Amino acid sequence: MKKKTIEKEISFEGKALQTGRETRVVCKPNDAGSGIIFKRTDLETRPVFPLSEAMFSSGQRRTVLSSSAGEVQTVEHFLAALWALEIDSLIVELDGAELPAAGGSSIEFLEGLTNAGIKEQPEEREFIKISEKEEVSVGENSLSIFPDAEFSVSYQMEYASGAIKDETLKMCRVRETFKKEIAPARTFCLKAEAEALLKAGLGRGATYENTLVLDETGPVETSFRFENEPVRHKILDLVGDLYLLGLPIIGRVEAKRSGHDLNVKMMRRIYEKYVCKK
Ligand SMILES: [Zn+2]
Repeated sequence: MKKKTIEKEISFEGKALQTGRETRVVCKPNDAGSGIIFKRTDLETRPVFPLSEAMFSSGQRRTVLSSSAGEVQTVEHFLAALWALEIDSLIVELDGAELPAAGGSSIEFLEGLTNAGIKEQPEEREFIKISEKEEVSVGENSLSIFPDAEFSVSYQMEYASGAIKDETLKMCRVRETFKKEIAPARTFCLKAEAEALLKAGLGRGATYENTLVLDETGPVETSFRFENEPVRHKILDLVGDLYLLGLPIIGRVEAKRSGHDLNVKMMRRIYEKYVCKK
């Protein structure tokens, strides 16, 4: 299997989900085969954030690439689209600190990048093949990856709220069905927490269209795209976070109530064990 990039430049713009700032992202082919590299063009030093260098951390309700020179926030929905399209090489230039909301899911990124054309490169694709069980946990939340021949995910949702149903969703052919089953699933929050999030400076680019605001009766001022849209979005976030190193993982993923904190903790462990020591 060969590495892939896009054929021609494409851009995305709009308000960012958390900061609410207008941002423009320009994606360019990276023909050098040097991986996926984010670049902040609005900062004087134009800092770069190559995924291969594991500059990630988890922020409040988002995943962040960071260095002393700056950061790139809310990369997970975009990374999920790159993972699904098997894009290994890309330059991602943005003129702000956070990616545009792009509808609160991955579908706009996925369709835009697809329209830019996917191009094979001469280099062979690299993978991270899990060789023994890896597990991270905090309290009752856990994330495990078991060795397996294919990538699969199961996510167990448990919320102490009647607004979000407890359920487990298992998916085998995740990448093949991603566009239809996962990519359109939007981010969500409980109606009860929405005000506190705004006060904390989060969700400033959130609208009832790009964010499911949930109470006991369902989403406010919109309707579900899937009956279980929240658990599908949790899988979207998870596969996006699992692509933080720009290398697809092969293994069976089992998540119980995991979020960005645990996902990032797992990726740190994988980086140290499977990438650094190579
Ligand atoms: Zn998300």
